[in-house]
Amino acid sequence: MTNEVYDLTVIGAGPAGLAAAYEAHRNGIKKILIIERDKVAGGILNQCIHNGFGLHHFKEELTGPEYAARFIQMVKSTDIELLLDAMVLDIHADNSNAREIKTISAVSPTTGYREIKTRAVILSMGCRERSRGAIGIPGTRPAGIFTAGTAQRLINCEGLMVGKRVVILGSGDIGLIMARRMTLSGAKVLACVELMPYSGGLTRNIVQCLEDYNIPLYLSHTITDIIGKNRVEKVIVSKVDENKNPIAGTEIEFDCDTVLLSVGLLPENELTKNAGIKTDPRTKGPFVFENRETLTSGIFACGNVVHVHDLVDYVTEESEICGKGAALFLNQNQDPKSSFISVSTDQNISYTVPQYIHKNCSEKLIGIFFRVRKVYKESCSITVYKIENGAKTKLASFKREHMAPGEMERINLVPSMLTQNDASEIQIAIETENGGAK
Ligand SMILES: Cc1cc2nc3c(=O)[nH]c(=O)nc-3n(C[C@H](O)[C@H](O)[C@H](O)COP(=O)(O)OP(=O)(O)OC[C@H]3O[C@@H](n4cnc5c(N)ncnc54)[C@H](O)[C@@H]3O)c2cc1C
Repeated sequence: MTNEVYDLTVIGAGPAGLAAAYEAHRNGIKKILIIERDKVAGGILNQCIHNGFGLHHFKEELTGPEYAARFIQMVKSTDIELLLDAMVLDIHADNSNAREIKTISAVSPTTGYREIKTRAVILSMGCRERSRGAIGIPGTRPAGIFTAGTAQRLINCEGLMVGKRVVILGSGDIGLIMARRMTLSGAKVLACVELMPYSGGLTRNIVQCLEDYNIPLYLSHTITDIIGKNRVEKVIVSKVDENKNPIAGTEIEFDCDTVLLSVGLLPENELTKNAGIKTDPRTKGPFVFENRETLTSGIFACGNVVHVHDLVDYVTEESEICGKGAALFLNQNQDPKSSFISVSTDQNISYTVPQYIHKNCSEKLIGIFFRVRKVYKESCSITVYKIENGAKTKLASFKREHMAPGEMERINLVPSMLTQNDASEIQIAIETENGGAK
């Protein structure tokens, strides 16, 4: 590493950062640095030793480390610099001047504290798990309570077994995968407990990780007490009503020594917020344009730092868009944010990414990613409206047979359709077959 100004600095060498850096390089950017706090590149994929990765992107079924290795190899085949074991502490960026050189401060055991100058930045710091404190489960504080991702790392990377009789709270993908992993490692998984009336995970994971191993899924239930002095001894699970309040008299007692929490992921955005980059309270990630530029010029973002993805293949797709967007920013001397279309939602959708689309966007298709708020089992439509002075004009409609909050949805929009209709705001809405919003 030299004291020169980098064209692009990527924070995080998970699948998002690696793919974005590689794509920027492919689009002509020469001086690229990736900074990663871990001792190895690959991000969370290094602990995901199960298969199921890459079906969309590589049309092959890979394990997490195999998927990551492909991108590590691609990056290593270039002159992109990879600084491992270095933690980014701060980003200084001047939002009023897109072309201002940005300063990143980082520390590492080998190079100590240093400041890195860069023309553009890609944020790809991933996300972290919500813990017991974040959801306030009552009870004592014995050993044996882990987040599912921590247990996954201990078992798959450190070779340590975390427990024998397990209750899992949360039926998101990580909880489901850990139910299978614990079973294959010799533990007894007594229950997977889910607060909502539906699972938060992919259908394929419910079948392959719970049903195939006869692990019961308790929907509309939660843990209401954890009992144990030194180690977890018992867990009390109760049914909840439609307001998610525990119903007295429905308690079930499980004799267990371990509780795994899979209760949600939070995009890792302390750096983003400290740098003054605006974040969306719905995604907990930065607001982004279709090219994944944030509302601070010259700073881009991709992967789980923007919104929690269910499949890494979509992380790769988004990161390639981001790398290309950053390259275009660096190659052209213009600020493309002059005019844009904002994307809003009806009450049935929790968020969209991107939240904004440049009117002069050069892409042929723009993918809009979003999650619905509830399960739709019958045929329904995703409808795109132009909103003007409170009036709605229908622009496009996409049929779906099934949608669920655990599965990210996407539609592809043709930008010329939006500009020809002179849209400044579009709304994405869910409608049932008879035309009414569900
Ligand atoms: C536990 C778990 C299990 C999963 N299982 C599956 C699965 O079975 N199938 C599937 O398709 N997807 C799965 N996913 C999702 C998929 O792995 C993620 O979507 C993908 O890894 C996200 O990529 P990312 O690069 O955005 O984040 P990450 O992989 O989390 O990478 C972020 C990187 O940024 C680094 N970083 C963060 N902050 C800093 C900083 N300040 N300075 C320097 N570096 C920093 C981190 O160390 C990390 O290496 C799983 C995710 C998790 C969390």
